[in-house]
Amino acid sequence: MTKSKIFQHNTFTTLSGGFYEGTISLAEALKHGAAGIGTLDTANGEVTIWDGIAYHGDAQNHVRQVEADETLPYVALVDHQALKTFTDSSSQPSEEFLSNVVAQFPTENTAYTIVIKGHFKSMTISSKPANNTRPYAEILADQPYFTRENVAGTLVGIWAPEHLSDLFGAGFHLHFISDDKQFSAHTQSFITEDVTVEFGQIAQIEQEFPTDNTSFNQKKILT
Ligand SMILES: [Zn+2]
Repeated sequence: MTKSKIFQHNTFTTLSGGFYEGTISLAEALKHGAAGIGTLDTANGEVTIWDGIAYHGDAQNHVRQVEADETLPYVALVDHQALKTFTDSSSQPSEEFLSNVVAQFPTENTAYTIVIKGHFKSMTISSKPANNTRPYAEILADQPYFTRENVAGTLVGIWAPEHLSDLFGAGFHLHFISDDKQFSAHTQSFITEDVTVEFGQIAQIEQEFPTDNTSFNQKKILT
């Protein structure tokens, strides 16, 4: 069976547990893959990596390319190898659409890489402000949401089963980049129009921690 791989620097839980200091440069991260998700130093905004280019969507809904020397406190890069590909031209809200994707996973206990490309009737994204010091849940509670109608683009990310939630978060973690590269951040919800879905089974995880970083070594990660 075709296998996908994932590289993570830190985990979803080190980020959500309050460690926001950028500890890997984009240049270093890109050695591990050309597609993925993350955030910048201070948990600033949302990073979407596609075709080897990292895009930053900020809390003002502006998108720019991330520079090679900018740092990230959390990033996941996937070597996405499609196990299954299918198209769907129905109009469905994301909750329903994604539960149908999960129903097609052939196994229960591994994570999956996800790429969904095409046209969306609607796409709603969120992004965090810069310079965060508050607990993660507080940041998310008042972060801005942005919606675009009739947008073409790519959703990229992962799905993880409950038992891997400390590593990846539970369920779907998807980021969006529009084809015009003007609309990008963390995906909250969408309505499909005409999309191609690919998923790949994650058979290998390379998990890295910034063990030379004093604040990482001393900070108590809260869960
Ligand atoms: Zn995200």
